[in-house]
Amino acid sequence: MLQVCANTWSMVEGGRRFNSYAGYFRRRFGQRVQKVAINAGFTCPNRDGSLAVGGCTYCDNGAFNPSYCLPRKSITQQIDEGIEFHATHRYKEAQQYLAYFQAFSNTYAPLDTLCKIYGEALRHPQVAGIVVGTRPDCVDEAKLDCLAQLSQKKYVAVEYGVESCYDRTLRRINRGHDFAAAVQAIEATAQRGLSVGAHIIFGLPGETKDDMLSEAGILSALPLTTIKFHQLQLIKNTAMASEFAECPQDFVRFEVDEYVDFFIDFLERFNPGIVVERFAGEVPPRFLAHAGWGLIRNEQLLAMLDKRLEQRSTWQGKKWGEEREQEN
Ligand code: SF4
Repeated sequence: MLQVCANTWSMVEGGRRFNSYAGYFRRRFGQRVQKVAINAGFTCPNRDGSLAVGGCTYCDNGAFNPSYCLPRKSITQQIDEGIEFHATHRYKEAQQYLAYFQAFSNTYAPLDTLCKIYGEALRHPQVAGIVVGTRPDCVDEAKLDCLAQLSQKKYVAVEYGVESCYDRTLRRINRGHDFAAAVQAIEATAQRGLSVGAHIIFGLPGETKDDMLSEAGILSALPLTTIKFHQLQLIKNTAMASEFAECPQDFVRFEVDEYVDFFIDFLERFNPGIVVERFAGEVPPRFLAHAGWGLIRNEQLLAMLDKRLEQRSTWQGKKWGEEREQEN
């Protein structure tokens, strides 16, 4: 059970100063649950010519796909291999898994194709649910109704790439949709009782630190279950890497310690009811066009965040209540 208010911090489980994903799953499933990434062979309207061909300027999906995810393999085979990979390499104690449809836009296909693919994943005996990553403009009423139906039996979450709350940024990074599209999709998903997630990038061109901090209030007002944040990582051979080379002054670049402090400033202003799935990324250095933070793992970043939150005697939502009072 989670208890948070503006004046005190108390998390009955886990003792963390933010609403963590691990705690969310322990509350929901009673144990650790591990995501297994699936590549179901979808593409994306921002790459196949429906909207555009170049895609978002930072996008290189190859950087985010584990090697066991190949669309020529069946969904079941990918799940089996993903479970074996995690059991061997990383999280030996996980007994339940979430099939994570991660690559490209995983609702971008006819409804009957989607139902077949999601159904195959949900029938796997070790799969407790699915997480479907997609674009806000790739869902409609029928697809969301199908997902809501599936959620009657197992956990179903939809995760939207939102990336920024500012239309000027979304235009500049060639997202092909505006922020209103994200709000509409998030609301339609939440209205059906589905878990709904969002992904945000900090450090996109043209955004100042104050712009990014102001997103805390905007995102806090949405009916989100979970949210993921990443610092901008410039991937080799992307349009954004070239843009950075031409006008680096348009980008806020964070050193790791600076980013942790910035993120805590954000977290203080952020709705404590929304689960923070991730606050930084870990793209392997070989993909990066510019030096990143080196070989730093997510667990190390989390330990830095926990320590700094304690040093600063602060927590998620500490200032959220204050800001809401000022607004009223
Ligand atoms: S929507 Fe996703 S897959 Fe499509 S171009 Fe953008 S980042 Fe890449």
